[in-house]
Amino acid sequence: MFKRTHTCGEITAALERQIVTINGWVDRVRNLGGVLFVTIRDRYGKIQVLFRPEDGSLFSEAASLHGEDVVAVTGEIAKRPEGAIKEEMGGAVEIIAQRLEVLSKAITPPFYIHLESDVNEELRLAYRYLDLRRQRMQKNIMLRHQVVQTVRAYFNARRFLEIETPILTKSTPEGARDFLVPSRLKQGKFYALPQSPQLFKQLLMVSGFDRYYQIARCFRDEDFRADRQPEFTQIDYEMSFVDQRDIMDITEGVLKAVFESVLGIAIETPFTVLSYTAAMDTYGTDKPDLRYGLSFCDVTDHFKDSGFEPIRQAIQNGGVLKGFKVAGAAPRYSRKMLEEIENLAKKAGAKGLLHAKAVKETDSTGTLTLKTNFDRHLSAFEGENLMKAFSLEDRDICFLISGERKTVNVALGVLRGEIAKRESLIPKDIFRFLWVVDFPMFSYSEEERRFVAEHHPFTMPYLSDLESYKDTDPTKIRAHAYDVVLNGWEIGGGSLRIHSREVQKTVFDLLGIDEAGQKSKFGFLLDAFQYGVPPHAGCAMGLDRLVAILAGEEFIRDVIPFPKTTSGICQMTGAPSDVENEQLEKLSLKFIKDAR
Ligand code: ASP
Repeated sequence: MFKRTHTCGEITAALERQIVTINGWVDRVRNLGGVLFVTIRDRYGKIQVLFRPEDGSLFSEAASLHGEDVVAVTGEIAKRPEGAIKEEMGGAVEIIAQRLEVLSKAITPPFYIHLESDVNEELRLAYRYLDLRRQRMQKNIMLRHQVVQTVRAYFNARRFLEIETPILTKSTPEGARDFLVPSRLKQGKFYALPQSPQLFKQLLMVSGFDRYYQIARCFRDEDFRADRQPEFTQIDYEMSFVDQRDIMDITEGVLKAVFESVLGIAIETPFTVLSYTAAMDTYGTDKPDLRYGLSFCDVTDHFKDSGFEPIRQAIQNGGVLKGFKVAGAAPRYSRKMLEEIENLAKKAGAKGLLHAKAVKETDSTGTLTLKTNFDRHLSAFEGENLMKAFSLEDRDICFLISGERKTVNVALGVLRGEIAKRESLIPKDIFRFLWVVDFPMFSYSEEERRFVAEHHPFTMPYLSDLESYKDTDPTKIRAHAYDVVLNGWEIGGGSLRIHSREVQKTVFDLLGIDEAGQKSKFGFLLDAFQYGVPPHAGCAMGLDRLVAILAGEEFIRDVIPFPKTTSGICQMTGAPSDVENEQLEKLSLKFIKDAR
């Protein structure tokens, strides 16, 4: 085989008149009567090769090339004719062929590689190795590599150690279901695939490694939702003798380095910090997209004596009346549109949707009046306050919902997102980061009829809250937990960890995990906590989502080399698949119901 002297991407005008050999795939063959143009591609770029009829057998050999054949071509680098300069292909030069070697023939692929055409996703995934040849995917996978290398370099330069933790392990509860692996040597026992390296990274702190990171594969057996993968990758890190701000600084530093290296963008740090309560109250979500406004305004105080029964009732029951303004949008909201929006609000849990449009009178007075869908019940005083609270101007519209605070927040949050989309209020190519902190430590699970940890059971609660509410209302206990949010995506999260055996036990107690359960599930952790634990904290960022955002991709599967479909199937290998009965027998496993 003629080995390449250059990659396709390296062929530039600076090499004019040199003889080079390239290796790659045939991207396209164009037969222009007299001459043959063959574009050769490798991961570094594309270059055009010219075959001339006067070269006889070389020409006829080239004429029989097909797209995706793998070839070696030797030739001289020559200037292209004026007007045929293609920046993405060697710029001003091409190769005049002198020798051709076909290294491997290809049959016609199921879709075009050289065109960015829309291809059915199932087909793309079934032939992933071909899909990955396409320019877009090559770019994404290379970008992913760059992100990972930048992350490693950042941590390495700051005394972090990259340490691997087991894949075959015992369940580490992060709130999802475990993937189980039957053990052959210990019949009837199972390993679990890690949902995260959580307990191991904490134990590494007990071992004194003090700064750990890992590009960690995690597994969660959850029901499939759009764009979720059963296995995904986290940038996982943990530090000893630190506080929350230290973890934030490191996280911001990693992100800064990544954005700088990949996009050449200097992101601003430190990020805004919002408490969970403030985020919910202002944006109706714990991962607000701050690329646009539409923040909520609470007008409860002005409507305490409302003549409108649903509002008055809601407020009397401790509820609220809140909403947000869309500037200048009133004329766009016809009756039909308003109905549509109201249905959305109802679907999101609201009982109904109120709106108020500000209209400037066309007469000489030019006064601003309100047109609402509860005019009959709106006093002049309330109307005025509404205008003031939302600073309403001509053509503004505001949407209002009354009811229990949480329900109102969530419903308004859904509307906020929808209206931002409809009104095209979401700017592209900007990145708005923020921290959401002080999450509740527990929530009550109706399904399990017990309190569950919002982050995970190893998160440090506010000790004063723990004291005050552990016996009365554990949902009021705040956690030293933080999420980093980018453009409405939660891209990471972590917490200060409990480092006292007693506090850890109290938390397990509140979670309804009894003494025996604590021992069998987390005995090793509680034991370790007796031997001197440094205060520690950590965080994990979702690599797949981060790369997707950087690549401008909507779906994480477009930045994962070999992803599963939304129903958890590997279209290419067919996993999950049947196994031989013999394999099952070796594991002492038998179907009680033949699922096949
Ligand atoms: N293990 C956590 C997670 O996977 C992250 C952390 O607390 O460090 O979400």
